[in-house]
Amino acid sequence: MNGIQCEATKADGVRCAQLANIEKAADGRDLCVFHDPDRKDAMQAKGREAARDRNRQVIAEKDLPPLETATDAAEWASKLAAATATGKLDPKRAQQVVNFIKLFLDAKTKAHYEEALKDLRERLKKLGG
Ligand SMILES: [Zn+2]
Repeated sequence: MNGIQCEATKADGVRCAQLANIEKAADGRDLCVFHDPDRKDAMQAKGREAARDRNRQVIAEKDLPPLETATDAAEWASKLAAATATGKLDPKRAQQVVNFIKLFLDAKTKAHYEEALKDLRERLKKLGG
């Protein structure tokens, strides 16, 4: 692999084997993302932000109706939209739930047509026989 090796020495006295960042650290040294204090802070801030997103309060189960009808799906969508818009729900997580709602509605629609088709076939059979 091409690139410059990080100049930092680890606690055990061994030189860090990571590749240095393309840009030099503020002190002019070639350091990897773990040893460059500026980037380390940014990485840690990103990690904290990700943890915060994961731990964000979700919509409580008791506040959602069982997902059984299209009307339920509309209520779910409404609550998801509000929770996402107000920052209570991680947009990525909201998107996952939206995908499930779509899947549910699609399956529900197919089940409805299956039932209607079955009903029509039975009526035809009665007419024919
Ligand atoms: Zn390093």
